[in-house]
Amino acid sequence: MPDTPETIYLIKGEDVDGAPCMVWCDDPAPSYACDPAEAVKYIRADHIRERLFQGWAGCTDRACIVTGPRSGMGTNGGCHCVKNASRSQLNLLSQRLIAMMGGRNAKT
Ligand SMILES: [Zn+2]
Repeated sequence: MPDTPETIYLIKGEDVDGAPCMVWCDDPAPSYACDPAEAVKYIRADHIRERLFQGWAGCTDRACIVTGPRSGMGTNGGCHCVKNASRSQLNLLSQRLIAMMGGRNAKT
């Protein structure tokens, strides 16, 4: 069985009887008749953190926003990873958020 995709789109389609419905597709516009701007992009929740904070080290807090909640040894004084991030890290984070939301011209 193949792995589930990290990203998938919900697009307008037809059911087996030809009636309009929404269908899942790995392409936002699988044919010329589809408008990619109408596709709704979904990203698996377990990949959002990984994509946003790729390259960040995280901290020792059990609820670190970068590494995610974890049990065992750790601190609980709060994660300051974003608060203490450098300007370049924040710029990269901003670019990743914009890209995940579909770009600067994405619908809000
Ligand atoms: Zn942290």
